[in-house]
Amino acid sequence: MTGTSLHEGHPVTLTLKPAPAGSGVTIVRTDRDGAQVHVHPRNIQEIQRRTLLMENGVEVHTVEHVLAALYGLGVDNAVMELSAPEPPAGDGSSKAFVELVREAGVIELAAERPEFTPTETIEVGDGKVSIKVEPHADGLVVNYTLDYGVPFMPRTTVEFAVTPESFEQQIGPARTFCLEKEAQMLQAMGFGKGANTQNTLVVSPQGPLENTLRFEDEYARHKLLDVVGDLAVTGLRLNAKVTAVKSGHSQNQVVAKELRRQYEAARKS
Ligand SMILES: [Zn+2]
Repeated sequence: MTGTSLHEGHPVTLTLKPAPAGSGVTIVRTDRDGAQVHVHPRNIQEIQRRTLLMENGVEVHTVEHVLAALYGLGVDNAVMELSAPEPPAGDGSSKAFVELVREAGVIELAAERPEFTPTETIEVGDGKVSIKVEPHADGLVVNYTLDYGVPFMPRTTVEFAVTPESFEQQIGPARTFCLEKEAQMLQAMGFGKGANTQNTLVVSPQGPLENTLRFEDEYARHKLLDVVGDLAVTGLRLNAKVTAVKSGHSQNQVVAKELRRQYEAARKS
């Protein structure tokens, strides 16, 4: 898939390739002599408003919508080649990446997948913003509450069990958004150089500018999609119930690191 990246606004080609069992997701920078960045919490770098992974000085960022699509469709192992640090924006959702994976197909490998049930409840937050992860019998369930404190974007709670079907139809098509009043400030800060009203819902009091909602609760669904993408960085299939209130990448990443720490600790004992 070729397109323009959201933040840098550069042309970029994304190629998804199969990978052996147990290898997880590896990102390969074709413009950097094939340098590899493994999708793993140890490579998370803290940065505002997006997911940045760095290994041996080579970085990739804003990969969460691709990672969410892979997790959602049940893909544990893949190589993601990128000709730039950031994938194409698509329409601001995971839809284009879901379509790529669906076109190629997914095969089952002769190996056990790394499933993990949290050994203890994780809670991150400060009372206003929170994310809680509890053990769950079967698969990943995410409950997300969006609250931007503006009347035209009312407090909304969505909940989905993340399955290939729910991801493809209910979660993956939800697009990224920003408030119209934030848009100029964000661009002045260097974000969203490739953003426009067709790959980002720019929300005004009357609704999205030059666009229409796919779901009445599309904004909350997108935040749920981001949780899936951030938790996909664990490299684990989770049996967990996640309850998030207004959480963003930074809180989600703390949870991803803690889940991986629990997994490593459980494996050693
Ligand atoms: Zn997002």
